Amino acid sequence: SKSLKALDPELNNFLDLEKKRQRESITLIASENFTSTSVFDLLGSEFQNKYSENRPNDRYYGGNEYIDQVELLCEKRALEAFNLDPNEWGVNVQPLAGSAANLIAFSAVLPVGGKLMGLDLPHGGHLTHGYSTKEGKSISAISKYFSTMPYQLDTKTGLIDYDTLEKNALLFKPKVIVAGASAYSRLIDYKRMKEITNKVNKNCYLVTDMAHISGLVAAGVLPSPFEYSDIVTTTTHKSLRGPRGAMIFYRKGIRYTNKKGVETPYTLEKDINFSTFPQHQGGPFNHTIAALAVALKQVMTPAYKKYQQDVVANCAFLAEELKKRNFELVSGGTDNHLLLIDLNNFGVDGARVESLLEKINISINKNTVFTDKSALFPMGLRVGTPAMTTRNFGKEEFAKVAEFIEKGVLLAKKLQNDQQQSAEKVKGPRGQLKQFKQLVAESEEV
Ligand code: PLP
Repeated sequence: SKSLKALDPELNNFLDLEKKRQRESITLIASENFTSTSVFDLLGSEFQNKYSENRPNDRYYGGNEYIDQVELLCEKRALEAFNLDPNEWGVNVQPLAGSAANLIAFSAVLPVGGKLMGLDLPHGGHLTHGYSTKEGKSISAISKYFSTMPYQLDTKTGLIDYDTLEKNALLFKPKVIVAGASAYSRLIDYKRMKEITNKVNKNCYLVTDMAHISGLVAAGVLPSPFEYSDIVTTTTHKSLRGPRGAMIFYRKGIRYTNKKGVETPYTLEKDINFSTFPQHQGGPFNHTIAALAVALKQVMTPAYKKYQQDVVANCAFLAEELKKRNFELVSGGTDNHLLLIDLNNFGVDGARVESLLEKINISINKNTVFTDKSALFPMGLRVGTPAMTTRNFGKEEFAKVAEFIEKGVLLAKKLQNDQQQSAEKVKGPRGQLKQFKQLVAESEEV
């Protein structure tokens, strides 16, 4: 922008460079997307100047007559976008990010030390689903504040092992089971998961984190988790294609009973809202909420439905193209917007491939696969189609993408061999990756 350029040329230069990087690269990061100019307009708007703690029409600050209407409009559109009856479901659109939304939601229903089960991180779960290392070190604060136990994939099929989840849940007796993932390419059986929470006891909640797939759910191209969930969290910037932020949906009808089984005045609705403010957050990001409201309007269009159909079709096509080139996929394929390549048969790790592809303007991310021993050199690559489908990539382009990935993997393998034969032995995974990047920078073949 002109005024930024005059005031701060240094920062303006970084903005120009980042714009150029985004324009000239192929983004295959499954959690990223390109949002609309209307979203940008609102993110950079006067709404950001305003404080508005607490719920619409009940604020701790004056001057919120328009902000109130914006937040209520955003809530209304959020419920409409996911086809929810406002008598049954409510939504809080204030959480600042997906990780915050999960902490807010879990601590609304769990006491400190309460029990939670989520998909293990190396099996595709998110950090905030309670990850701690095998040695018991809390990596996410969720596992520091709550008592967490992971569930995992069936290593033969690459699918969630619901039977073992059920067996362990009946022993562990969690109050929350989290459905949802960051790197799972198959459909989740919400019905089965709700049956498991019901078997644990009637105070066990199914919390679905649909962050990755919420755009696909809104467009009706993937099954909706709402029928079987008590709480649903989501980010708003991944497949949904809105601003960075998050939402928490909750069943309005849930009212707690006391030890004698008598209903109390406490509801899930009250607890989610109280956990958001004042427990975890202060002033909401009103510019983000306004931007989310316009993104949700876009979600409810036929063009958006078509876009999400294309996201899934492109991903299925890319999976087939990769398989033709001898790539092995965790679970053998995909039903959604992402796929997970297991590089073990190529004998090169995801970190090296990621850094090589970055050099040729392809952004992709390394990912753990469940056989991994090292988190710094995981053997997986996660590939997603939402961002490039927004940029109108179709079959022809994704066929090329498969070709580039194959070339990148083969070259990374070759450079890895060169590195292993090199006289200079570097210790530690970080040092080795640095050395590998140097080889990439010097290679004429890249
Ligand atoms: N939940 C899932 C399933 C995610 O994949 C992510 C982010 O990757 C999050 C939550 C966290 O979102 P954020 O990065 O906005 O904190």
